[in-house]
Amino acid sequence: MSQNHSMFDAMLQEFSGAAKRLDLEPSIWEILTKPMRQIIVSCPVQMDDGSVRVFKGFRVQYSMMLGPCKGGIRFHPGVNLDEVTALAAWMTWKCAIAHIPFGGAKGGVVCDPATLSTREIEALTRRYIAEIVDAIGPEKDIPAPDVNTNAQVMAWVMDTYSMHHGRTVTAVVTGKPVELGGSLGRREATGRGVTIITREAAKHLGLDITKATVAIQGFGNVGSVAAALLTELGAKIVAVTDHGGGVHDPDGLDVAALQRHVDEHRTVAGFPHADPLDGAALFDMDVDVLVPAALGNQITAENAPRIKAKIIVEGANGPTTPEAHARLHKRGVFMIPDILANSGGVTASYFEWVQDRYGYFWTEAEVNDRLERKLCEAFTDVLDTSLSFEVDLRAAAYIVAIRRVAGATRMRGLYA
Ligand code: NAD
Repeated sequence: MSQNHSMFDAMLQEFSGAAKRLDLEPSIWEILTKPMRQIIVSCPVQMDDGSVRVFKGFRVQYSMMLGPCKGGIRFHPGVNLDEVTALAAWMTWKCAIAHIPFGGAKGGVVCDPATLSTREIEALTRRYIAEIVDAIGPEKDIPAPDVNTNAQVMAWVMDTYSMHHGRTVTAVVTGKPVELGGSLGRREATGRGVTIITREAAKHLGLDITKATVAIQGFGNVGSVAAALLTELGAKIVAVTDHGGGVHDPDGLDVAALQRHVDEHRTVAGFPHADPLDGAALFDMDVDVLVPAALGNQITAENAPRIKAKIIVEGANGPTTPEAHARLHKRGVFMIPDILANSGGVTASYFEWVQDRYGYFWTEAEVNDRLERKLCEAFTDVLDTSLSFEVDLRAAAYIVAIRRVAGATRMRGLYA
């Protein structure tokens, strides 16, 4: 990856704008722009055909100033140190905005899980965790699912760590199956958070959510839950796209029927009760709310001028390029940044960790109620900061995060 397109550079650019507004002193600036620890490991795995392949893995612990590091594990052919470091930094800011006692981390293994058998994925997961076993732990660094990893992979992470320590340690990882110390409500938490933040933004802008129209890119964990819960609030989901194509109904899609279609066909494409929609056309839709909930770098300088939405809620990580963000903000689009909009996931992960450490589990209603309160507080903190500093919500989110992490760094001082 060329330096010009470095994700970490993009993160630094966002950080710098906010740090300048805060008059952050150079010493703290220096500390907060460096990852605390970057681990690179080689993971030999015996494949089903008897051959041995060595997979490269990373774990980046960006900051532990506010508590143990926290961040997902990604299995993807495009994983690289620059991306993992940027994602670890974003986790640091996200946890600070959510006001939960965690630092930030991220992990990744360069592999294409679509080409691996379940046994090979298990072997790779276990070897990767064995390689980083001394660096993780309930009070050190707590992994979670990310792209192409799921509750089953987290169960293998928990089991491998536990076998190394001679006892069951559920709090070492979140996003586990409920039977193994997972939390009720965790699976839906990111989409639920997107919904709560959308509702709060609409309230602030005086937009009636019960009359709002919504377009969503991505109908996976985040997009499908957001679609269902926004529908419950009375909003009309008029367009959805995914990797296979898209569908459109100006009268509002039947989201429950769409979910059944996706469960059967693995894509929204071909849903018989709506018109087909080209993936790129989603961004041209005349809607009130646009929710990118698929991949990074989807809203670009090219399609930004055609976007008509009044609110963009970044369910995905990094869906908007900095150029597109600048253009849309200038046009008055209310852009809710990923580190606020999708923080419901890590907030529920924090709840899972708390429950595991207590060994006492909450009802789903208790989880959802606490999530609601945490996200409303985070939204208010970022909105108030945006109004008092006269900056957009992305800069405001960074200001909230940097203030908290910088404050902790100052108080802790230097260990020498
Ligand atoms: P997922 O794998 O469950 O779903 C991804 C969706 O995106 C699928 O519907 C897929 O078809 C669609 N998609 C893939 N390529 C596409 C393309 N080219 N055009 C349109 N759609 C495409 O993933 P998820 O868990 O829903 O995560 C979505 C985004 O949200 C990611 O950026 C992820 O990092 C972010 N996120 C997820 C969580 C979480 O808890 N799951 C938390 C924070 C952030």
